[in-house]
Amino acid sequence: MKIHEYQAKEILKSYGVPVPDGIAALTVDEAVDAAKKLEANGATLFVVKAQIHAGGRGKGRTKKNGVKGVILCKSVEEVKAAAESLLGDVLVTIQTGDEGQLVQRLYVTDGVDIEKEFYLGILLDRAVSKNVIMVSTEGGVEIEQVAEETPEKIIKEWVEPGMPLQVNQARHLAFALGLEGEALKKGIKFIMAIYNAYLEIDSDMFEINPLILTPDNEILALDAKVTFDGNALYRHKDIAELKDESEEDPFELEAGKYNLNYIKLDGNVGCMVNGAGLAMATMDIIKLSGGEPANFLDVGGGANVETVKNGFRIILDDPNVKAILINIFGGIVRCDRVANGVIEAVKDPEIAAKVENVPIIVRLQGTNAAEAKEIIDNSGLNVISAVLLKEAAEEVSKVLA
Ligand code: ADP
Ligand code: MG
Repeated sequence: MKIHEYQAKEILKSYGVPVPDGIAALTVDEAVDAAKKLEANGATLFVVKAQIHAGGRGKGRTKKNGVKGVILCKSVEEVKAAAESLLGDVLVTIQTGDEGQLVQRLYVTDGVDIEKEFYLGILLDRAVSKNVIMVSTEGGVEIEQVAEETPEKIIKEWVEPGMPLQVNQARHLAFALGLEGEALKKGIKFIMAIYNAYLEIDSDMFEINPLILTPDNEILALDAKVTFDGNALYRHKDIAELKDESEEDPFELEAGKYNLNYIKLDGNVGCMVNGAGLAMATMDIIKLSGGEPANFLDVGGGANVETVKNGFRIILDDPNVKAILINIFGGIVRCDRVANGVIEAVKDPEIAAKVENVPIIVRLQGTNAAEAKEIIDNSGLNVISAVLLKEAAEEVSKVLA
């Protein structure tokens, strides 16, 4: 799960990680009030930042007004103008795609003098099953670009599972950034605090780009990208509440309500499968037979009438879907029951209306597969049965041809 920068910074702050002061705003008036409050606390420079779930805002431009997603302002009046030009406009960055993202929230924050910009990232290195902390002197640059062009500039420390980060590891990282004296001490403290925050909240990724050194030797997180491990959210009700549904894919949001694992893709063959591994294999076979999967959908072990119906609803909401491939292995659930579930779902008036022009190919393997095929074949519905996965894929390419 993703959250906004302002939310990430509030969390970081609560773990003792230094960030500039800032206030979120939903309207121009709120942005002006925020700037006035920051001014009363001594701010003379402000930065107005679009809050969207995508990076690259500083180099992005809005569609209508052509302004950047991060605007430096010298006065409250300039904050007002920046807020007016950003709110309601669509920001396009290298991470949003051409369609861009609507700006509905702003973060008004203290403008800070920057001596140096660095990069800091924390994530799980799956290859070694350890968390890794990465730093680089190349702040403000996309880390992928640094990794490609100058990988030696990325310094890493892996943390032993079950162990806290060691001070000497934090020192190594801070030292690699060229920090000295007071700045080195603050850098070490920063790294210790931020790693603790990462662990405590069950994050699966932190990206601070840039992490900065100020002329008076402060170390601050100037930007913050924080994501959470969805499987751990039940332990963090307060974090789960930070979800901004307007930033999420509407299809995936809907699927979440039905407890389905769904990821939207760009193809035209909808897939309904039980088990993630089989879902991946099904997508592969669709591609091999010349189709493009429209989604990943794992309906889980049960595959009863309700889950099949919900699966159809989600798949059919996508106008690109030209055919549906159902591939279910009847292990825990018997194939004849799934077949009856599919038939019942297809007869549901709401679904029936939508599948009129969308052929359904069903491949059921496992317990009572033969009975299941008979049920499908005798149903009189626009449902094609297949025994082998390859056959199913061939049927898909036939109906798409
Ligand atoms: P993004 O990564 O989406 O472009 P950032 O928050 O990293 O957004 O901002 C882009 C750039 O804007 C930063 O690299 C930094 O140079 C500048 N910037 C961001 N916030 C501040 C701030 N509070 N004070 C001064 N400069 C800032
Ligand atoms: Mg950034």
